[in-house]
Amino acid sequence: MTTIKTSCPVCGDVELTPGQMRLVVCSKSDWSFYSFNCGTCRDEIRKPADNEVVSLLVSGGVRAERWEIPAEAFEEHTGTAISYDDVLDFALGLDRVDNLAAMIIPRVEV
Ligand SMILES: [Zn+2]
Repeated sequence: MTTIKTSCPVCGDVELTPGQMRLVVCSKSDWSFYSFNCGTCRDEIRKPADNEVVSLLVSGGVRAERWEIPAEAFEEHTGTAISYDDVLDFALGLDRVDNLAAMIIPRVEV
């Protein structure tokens, strides 16, 4: 059986089986990590996993979990944030529209 050697910041060297490790591979590679519960102090240890670490762990039999972050999460936004007043103005504006669907859907001339 494969034994993976890593370390706990408190207890030092730790030996684990692939099943004792969690590998999370993120669509933003800087956020990929692996974690395990230290058998001595019982803390969950989480460490970054670059491409080399991911390859080593996968080749050692650790199952990789995919973590997809929507592209919208990385969009840059400018301007002020939407306030409660903005939301209320929008809701009041909706009340003034009799048929919102008719306003949004383009008309087809026959
Ligand atoms: Zn420990």
